[in-house]
Amino acid sequence: MSLEIVPKDLRHLRACLLCSLVKTIDQFEYDGCDNCESYLQMKGNREMVYECTSSSFDGYVMLSLTEGSVTVWMSFSGNFKPGVYAVTVTGRLPPGVVRELKSRGVIYRSRDTAVKT
Ligand SMILES: [Zn+2]
Repeated sequence: MSLEIVPKDLRHLRACLLCSLVKTIDQFEYDGCDNCESYLQMKGNREMVYECTSSSFDGYVMLSLTEGSVTVWMSFSGNFKPGVYAVTVTGRLPPGVVRELKSRGVIYRSRDTAVKT
């Protein structure tokens, strides 16, 4: 008996380290992150996709157009696109990206629960 319950087509899902949006790696590469593209510029840059997203995340939250509760734990304000979001994401943005965010007034708080503060 295999405990593997993740369908094959969900294998390449990754979560954005900044906003937790969950998409496939190809979606991130082709479209960038719907929320953070202006900050992270992942579009067409697979290296950035690998650096700014994580394949290790837990839980899903569906964000609908009318539902704003997910923004409670979001580390920066803004209009989040409806979609699937991870509850916790393991991993951290590269220091250079965090610095860039800071210079643009975005405070990045990792939701990596494994990291002791
Ligand atoms: Zn994002």
